[in-house]
Amino acid sequence: MVDVLRTCAHWALNFARPPRCSGCGAIVDDDHSFCPDCWKQLEFLGVGGCRTCGLPLQATDIDECAACLAVAPRIARTRAAVAYDHLSRGLAIRLKYGRKVAIARTMARYMAPLVDAVEGDRILVPVPLHRTRLWRRGFNQSALVARELSHRLQIKTDLFALRRIRRTPPLKGMGLLQRRRAVAGAFKIADPARVKGKAVILVDDVLTTGSTAEACARTLKRAGAVRVELISWARVVKPSQLMR
Ligand SMILES: [Zn+2]
Ligand SMILES: [Zn+2]
Repeated sequence: MVDVLRTCAHWALNFARPPRCSGCGAIVDDDHSFCPDCWKQLEFLGVGGCRTCGLPLQATDIDECAACLAVAPRIARTRAAVAYDHLSRGLAIRLKYGRKVAIARTMARYMAPLVDAVEGDRILVPVPLHRTRLWRRGFNQSALVARELSHRLQIKTDLFALRRIRRTPPLKGMGLLQRRRAVAGAFKIADPARVKGKAVILVDDVLTTGSTAEACARTLKRAGAVRVELISWARVVKPSQLMR
């Protein structure tokens, strides 16, 4: 009887509030999914590309790109669910300013399968905001996503393992060295024991140049993290890098 009631309640709720496309709001069959139009527009990046940085490979590369082969990046593996475009940006903005848990859940749904299955003690750590920004906004959008990933992957989250101790200027338009300088020393580990010996999965909403994540990885590794990987919702990819 309870089951019947529960089914009825679920049906009634779905009737009143049907699942909506996370991109445009059209009614869809499934929660946390996209309508066919939005689905077509989104560029899912998948697990292909360079096994380290995730960027598409050139014809001469085998499974790792020339840049990663030349200098091994601090981040062992970088993956993003989708390419950054009008639609994926819209989701990131709604999450950032609207504290929409449903959006974080949608993002996590497409990010979770891209997290590397490595052995050992793993923790999810969101890229932190500076406290003044956190006070103003009231929450960290990457922490919302990390929490949803934690539910899906059954991996613990440490929301405050990493702290941003210095405000950083927008990195857009800066050269590589300028960006490195801008984020140098911006992060700090609250207590090294929380990351020592662990494989850290850094969580970010949007990946642009990678300089911020790189600075986070440097701080985490100095504190004894054995491995750092990065998972983000959207990644800025040059059109020429997309394999269509
Ligand atoms: Zn849609
Ligand atoms: Zn690479």
